[in-house]
Amino acid sequence: MPLVPMRAILQASLDAYRKGPPFAVGAYNINNMEQMQGIMLAANKTQSPIIVQASRGALKYADMDYLKHLMLAAVELNPAIPIAMHLDHGNSLDTAKKAIGLGFTSVMIDGSLLEDGKTASDYEYNIRVTKEVVDYARKFGVTTEGELGTLGGIEDGVGSGKIHLTDPDQAVDFVKKTGVDALAVAIGTSHGAYKFKTEPKIAFDIVEKIRKKIPDVFLVSHGSSSVPHELIDIINKYGGNMQKTMGVPLESLKKAIALGINKINVDTDGRLAVTAAIRKFFAENPDKFDPRDYLKPAREALAAVIEERMIAFGTAGHIKDVKLATLEDMKAFYIKKPETRNQ
Ligand SMILES: [Zn+2]
Repeated sequence: MPLVPMRAILQASLDAYRKGPPFAVGAYNINNMEQMQGIMLAANKTQSPIIVQASRGALKYADMDYLKHLMLAAVELNPAIPIAMHLDHGNSLDTAKKAIGLGFTSVMIDGSLLEDGKTASDYEYNIRVTKEVVDYARKFGVTTEGELGTLGGIEDGVGSGKIHLTDPDQAVDFVKKTGVDALAVAIGTSHGAYKFKTEPKIAFDIVEKIRKKIPDVFLVSHGSSSVPHELIDIINKYGGNMQKTMGVPLESLKKAIALGINKINVDTDGRLAVTAAIRKFFAENPDKFDPRDYLKPAREALAAVIEERMIAFGTAGHIKDVKLATLEDMKAFYIKKPETRNQ
């Protein structure tokens, strides 16, 4: 099957939330071939639908065309797995246009920040830039994700570093005015590895309220790596120097899924797994110099971390629950969808 619009994959999660038992779909970041392979190893093993996402930093690092062909290879080699390719933290209509031109089936426009990806914007700016991207993406049947509220932490240079939890009533207004398919909500999670010093308090009441107020919109939790201390310990044991830190426990994420979160972004945990495996390999094999020798265990470590999340989020075994749709189907869907936005 070709790349699937993200909407089709997240609809399976929303249906499961309504009928039970609920599950969410993880969105995992890629920058290179080994990450793409690791993600697909895990998806295959657990039979999970998957959202593969690339940030602006990834597009710059890997060159857009390499990423395009990596995702096409994943599709070709895994015909039974529904895969959506998503732009993470798009900052402008221009970036969204580039991603859609490359064949991405979903784009995020993060209008909670200005185009620099650092400065918090105002609400009017967020609505304007989000609506612009939604209007453009819908013509191609491409799914859209917006963001309301701001997370703590900074990752890939993205983030203001200030937490501002999402206001449920404002979420209703935002969705009505922009028409986004998915909404990233700020519920107390945080970007990057250095999220919290103690166990974080996730605002479950906000998830519950937003889910009730916008029942048809997919809800996304960013900054949701659990930052396992075992991985930090391996990194530090083999020459690293990472400070003590805490992420979002898998148990908190499971609770958020039960309350209606559909998409969970995980990037840091994969980075930690890769670094831990490579540091360990170098320490134990100082004579080795072939990149394949250490990239292979790194790829396997990444797959193991993702597999654990696919099981924890309940994604495992759900490939058949995705009602397959093409971008053409989605184009027709958006034309038919009652226009609820204020023009
Ligand atoms: Zn994010």
